Amino acid sequence: MPQVDFSDTQIAFADKSDAALKRSNLLFSLMNYPILVKIGTRLATLALQLRLPVEGLVKATIYRQFCGGENIEEARSVIDKLGESNIKTILDYGVEGKESEADFDRTAAYLSQTLEYAKEDEDIHIISTKLSGLFRFGLLEKVSSGAALTNVEKEEYERGKARVGRICKAAFESGIGVHVDAEHSWIQGAIDEVAWEMSRQYNKGVPTVINAVQLYRKGRLQFLKDSLQHARDNGYLCAVKLVRGAYMEKERSRAHAMGYPSPIHESLEETHRAYNEGLQFCIEHIGEVYVCNATHNEESCRLQTELMESKGLSPGHPMVATAQLYGMSDNLSYNMAKAGFNVEKYLPYGPVREVLPYLIRRTQENTSVEGQMSRELNLIRKELRRRRG
Ligand SMILES: Cc1cc2nc3c(=O)[nH]c(=O)nc-3n(C[C@H](O)[C@H](O)[C@H](O)COP(=O)(O)OP(=O)(O)OC[C@H]3O[C@@H](n4cnc5c(N)ncnc54)[C@H](O)[C@@H]3O)c2cc1C
Repeated sequence: MPQVDFSDTQIAFADKSDAALKRSNLLFSLMNYPILVKIGTRLATLALQLRLPVEGLVKATIYRQFCGGENIEEARSVIDKLGESNIKTILDYGVEGKESEADFDRTAAYLSQTLEYAKEDEDIHIISTKLSGLFRFGLLEKVSSGAALTNVEKEEYERGKARVGRICKAAFESGIGVHVDAEHSWIQGAIDEVAWEMSRQYNKGVPTVINAVQLYRKGRLQFLKDSLQHARDNGYLCAVKLVRGAYMEKERSRAHAMGYPSPIHESLEETHRAYNEGLQFCIEHIGEVYVCNATHNEESCRLQTELMESKGLSPGHPMVATAQLYGMSDNLSYNMAKAGFNVEKYLPYGPVREVLPYLIRRTQENTSVEGQMSRELNLIRKELRRRRG
C-alpha cells in the first residue's frame, strides 16, 4: 500500500498558478476573521435580496473558489482539470430551500440534465442531491415525525418519490451514482426512508443510491449497522457516504429552544470516535458495503489507507472512495489520487444567488476557531513559501 504524504503541497496545488494561489490566500485570510464573515455574509445576502448588482463581485471571489460555474458548460474546465489529476467530479446543482412544486420539478429537470451530461463524461460519475430540493420541507418534517399524513399529503409525498425515482432509475441505467445528502435531523427520517426504498430498487450490486450518514449525531452508528441489515434482508448493496455533519449549531439551538436533548455528540472527540468506528465498520464489511469517506479530516483519510491496507484492499478498490469539497483540502484529494485511491471532488454549480446558502456554510467552516489559522490558509501559505524558495 503506498504511503500518502498529506503534507505535500507541491502535489496538492500543482495545477494552481501563483496568481490563483495568491487569490485563495487573500480570500481565506479574510475568511479567517469571524467578524468579517458575519458582516460579509449579511451584506451579500441583503444585496442579492435587494437585487443589487453584486453577483459579479461574489462570482470573482468566493464563488470562484468553491463552485464550478453557473451551468455545466461553465464548470467544464474545472471538471477537465480535476480529471487530469485522476480526480472524479460529484456534480451538485447547488439549489436549496425551495418550496413550490414548480421549483421541485425544475430541480428534478436540472438533475436529469446533469445526468445526461454525466453519462457522456467519464470524469463525472456521481451527481448529488438534497431531497429538500425535491420535496416540501414541512412534508419531510411531518413524515419524519411519524404523524399521519392527510390524503392530499400522501399524494404529494408520492409525487416527490416519483421525482426521485425517475432520477435514480436514469442514474442506474447510465451507471452513475446519486449521493443523497444528509440534512437536518428533523427531516432525516423521511430522507432515509426514501433513500432505502430507492436503494432496494437500484443498488443491484452497484452503488447507485448512496445515502449520507452523519456521525456527529448520537445513534447514527447504529443506523449504519441497521442500513447494512436492511440491505441484507432485501438483497441489495448498502452504499453510504460517511460525513461528520454540517448543521451542528442549528441542531443544538433548535434542541435547546424546543427543550429536547441535543441529537449531536457532546464533544468533538465523541464525533471523531463515532466517525472512525463507522469507517472501520464499513471497511470490515466491504463488498456488502460501498463507502465514500467524505471528509476534510487528515486522520480520517489516513485511517482509510490503514484500514484498507490491513484488509488487503488495493488503493483503487471499487467499493471505497474518498471525497472532498471543491476548493478545500487539496492536500488530501491530490495526494490520495496520486497514490491510486478513488478520489472525488464535490463540485456545486448554479446561479450565484442560488448557491449562496452553500457559500455561507463554506465561509463559516473556514473561519478561524479560537484564533487559529484555518487548515486551508496554513496549506496555501506553506505552498506560497515553498514556491518563493
Ligand atoms: C464530499 C463531502 C460531502 C458532504 N456531504 C454532506 C452531507 O451530505 N450532509 C452533511 O451534513 N454534511 C456534509 N458534508 C460536510 C461534513 O458533514 C462536515 O461538515 C465537514 O466535512 C467537516 O467535517 P470533517 O469530516 O471534514 O472533519 P473535521 O473538520 O475534523 O470536524 C469538524 C466536524 O466535527 C463536528 N464537530 C465539531 N465540533 C464539535 C463538537 N464540539 N461536538 C460534536 N461534534 C463536533 C462537526 O460535524 C464539524 O463539521 C460533506 C463534506 C464533504 C467533504
